[in-house]
Amino acid sequence: MTFNDFNFNPDLVEGLSAMGYTKPTPIQEQSIPVILHDRDLIACAQTGTGKTAAYLLPILHKIVNSDHRHLNTLVIAPTRELALQIDQQIEALGYFINVSSITVYGGGSGIVWEQQKRAMQLGTDIVIATPGRLLSMLNVGDINFKHLEHLVLDEADRMLDMGFYDDIVRIISYLPEDRQTILFSATMPPKIRTLANQILKDPAEINIAISKPADGILQMAYMTYDNQKFGLLKHIFQEKEYKSVIIFCSRKETVKRLANELKRIIPSLQAFHSDLEQEQREEIMRNFKNKQLQVLVGTDILSRGIDVEGIDLVINYDVPPDGEDYIHRIGRTARAATTGTAITLINDMDQQRFASIERLIGREIPKTIIPAALGEGPAYTPGIRRSGGGGRGAGKPQQKRHGGNKHSHSGSGQHKHGGGNGGGQNQNRQQGGSGEKRDGQKHHHNKPRHNGPRPPRPQGEGGSNNTPTPPAPPAA
Ligand code: AMP
Repeated sequence: MTFNDFNFNPDLVEGLSAMGYTKPTPIQEQSIPVILHDRDLIACAQTGTGKTAAYLLPILHKIVNSDHRHLNTLVIAPTRELALQIDQQIEALGYFINVSSITVYGGGSGIVWEQQKRAMQLGTDIVIATPGRLLSMLNVGDINFKHLEHLVLDEADRMLDMGFYDDIVRIISYLPEDRQTILFSATMPPKIRTLANQILKDPAEINIAISKPADGILQMAYMTYDNQKFGLLKHIFQEKEYKSVIIFCSRKETVKRLANELKRIIPSLQAFHSDLEQEQREEIMRNFKNKQLQVLVGTDILSRGIDVEGIDLVINYDVPPDGEDYIHRIGRTARAATTGTAITLINDMDQQRFASIERLIGREIPKTIIPAALGEGPAYTPGIRRSGGGGRGAGKPQQKRHGGNKHSHSGSGQHKHGGGNGGGQNQNRQQGGSGEKRDGQKHHHNKPRHNGPRPPRPQGEGGSNNTPTPPAPPAA
């Protein structure tokens, strides 16, 4: 199957080729025809499967072919981060078409609230929103979803885990009955079924299975603060002798720093990251394969494609961005039906991400308490929202009119993008939550043509209890 089989609008196809998409992924092959035929859909697919384009492409096609332009599609996503990533994909895929979108999420001042509201009122094709902020706006009134045609719930299981069930149902009460509803979820627990029964009409069902970690891997995790991690590594290496070990870090800066520190206690150790020359990497890999080198500290560029037998320990120095990365990382051990150990260090900020990985692989990983000599580690409470990191900051609403190349027309209050170079070529992947670049991996295409500053990196939004109180409208 190719993208030509869907008879997409030619300008949309142009965007696809500029993105370098040559053929649809399995979830796209199955979802696109269903959505094009206006049928409700419940799809079980994880991040990394191409799920975002699976619903965006048919929706963009329908919007661009429609005569009546109005607020057409609402995408509800659990976090600001995901909302922004979806918006980036709309911008990249819709580069050659005339489609506008805005993101609406919590945080920011009363001015931001007002900007988001006005942007929605001025008219846009697609709104991507987190549930708390959207509901607050709907409660205050003035947002008109009368002509809405598509409702998408992305990462629905995560939204329910965050306590958004009631908010979602309340948001839907503001939407027209006669709409297409599309629900994407990484897992299908019973509460997703309950929600689906409540809001979907005779949906088609699609399930894209993911590979599970091999049975021979003993998986465990430590709850630890960042400043305890180094001591914990020392403890792990003192406790047992490992012949061949990979330590994964999400950022190459962490790889370099950690490798320097660890070398003092483990001389047979090398850092492995994208700043090394190809020959250096090959030499390190050769030494690791023939067991002259005991420990590799590396980024995720190590997690795919390297096939080294006899790795008896994999350590995730930080929690990988998603379940797919986790499976790839720990899959470096216990290859060829042997056994191995995979240890993940979970700090207080990464708990929610680890919980979603557990959901994805369908099991809970035992949490071990760190040795008393290191002090007390954090408790495992992934349901509790944490602040920290980048700070909530003032998230400006992101309204844009895409299609700067061919059909650009300006509209008041809309951010217009200048022409670019075909969009979507930048393949740096962002690490979930932290907003820092990861090392040499494909993933979400960064906005290729955004001229203005991006808002600060997001953090998760909590459920109803965390719904921000709408700030008072500014004085006239
Ligand atoms: P997602 O599962 O939506 O998070 O997508 C994962 C990554 O796959 C993103 O970087 C997408 O841009 C990319 N992607 C989606 N569909 C395709 C495709 N058909 N061919 C190549 N890459 C794709």
